[in-house]
Amino acid sequence: MQVGIVGAGMVGSAAGYALALQGTAERIVLVDIDDKLARAQAEDIAHAVPFASSVQVEAAGYDGLAGCGVVIIAAGVSQKPGETRLELLSRNAEVFRAVIGEVRRAAPDAILLIASNPADVMTDVATRLSGLPPERVIGSGTILDTARFRWLVGQHLGIAPQSVHAYVLGEHGDSEVLAWSAARAGSVELRSFAAQVGAPLTQSVCERIDAGVRRAAYTIIEGKGATWYGIGAGLQRIVRAIARDEAAVLSVSIVTHEVEGVSDVALSIPRVVGASGVAADLFPELDAGEHAALKASAQILKDTSDALTL
Ligand code: ADP
Repeated sequence: MQVGIVGAGMVGSAAGYALALQGTAERIVLVDIDDKLARAQAEDIAHAVPFASSVQVEAAGYDGLAGCGVVIIAAGVSQKPGETRLELLSRNAEVFRAVIGEVRRAAPDAILLIASNPADVMTDVATRLSGLPPERVIGSGTILDTARFRWLVGQHLGIAPQSVHAYVLGEHGDSEVLAWSAARAGSVELRSFAAQVGAPLTQSVCERIDAGVRRAAYTIIEGKGATWYGIGAGLQRIVRAIARDEAAVLSVSIVTHEVEGVSDVALSIPRVVGASGVAADLFPELDAGEHAALKASAQILKDTSDALTL
């Protein structure tokens, strides 16, 4: 599959690098308003190709996206001093107004994969601007938060994160919901597994893991200014599910008809992802507190989207 990436900054280039190393795409095309940056990133990633897979990596204008099956949108602007979140959102919506039209014209059959933040609202914006059905406009959503959750639980239990089956739901952000009650290690309910291996999930352990997931971006940003490797790998994982028609269950964001009584809201729940985009939504069994937290998260996202005029 040919994969386009619009926005060749840290996140876009990390996704391109992950795609090249994993051999997920046959051709990777980087587009950026800063053409020099796109060319430099493409050349740098291309220099990894002799050590990895056979993939063509290039920078191009929008016309170069012709034939792409997936286009990752990682373009955006950063927050100015004193700017509110909604003002930033409005400026990023303006970026999307320019970008989505060009991508649709150049690659009308592409599935859009939205990585720009705030991920859920930008997924809603991209869905509205593109006119595509929601299942073909996929936000990276909580794919990374879910990875962080599995990694921390795996560390606590002394098992591989791949053996932890747990999801983060709702917003990719402060109101996200760690679905503890639906989590399993192997096929064993998490608390039972933890007790069996002598690593009980006490309240303080759960609070530490919750904070580790919820605050991860803040901690990394404090140390290095932004996050890119984890999300780059997460974007590669979603592209792979589409390119190989895997029908993989991944926590990603799309505009969803109804979640906890909130209608037409973009947020993450586990979904089946394959060649046609999202093929099915899955609602995990939750306890009362998690239901309430998911409803609150959905309402926050809906209110933010409603406040944004396009
Ligand atoms: P992140 O850490 O989210 O990747 P960056 O600032 O590193 O953030 O990357 C965002 C990229 O988006 C920048 O390279 C910027 O030039 C690009 N960009 C901004 N506006 C547009 C636009 N209208 N069209 C294409 N690319 C854009």
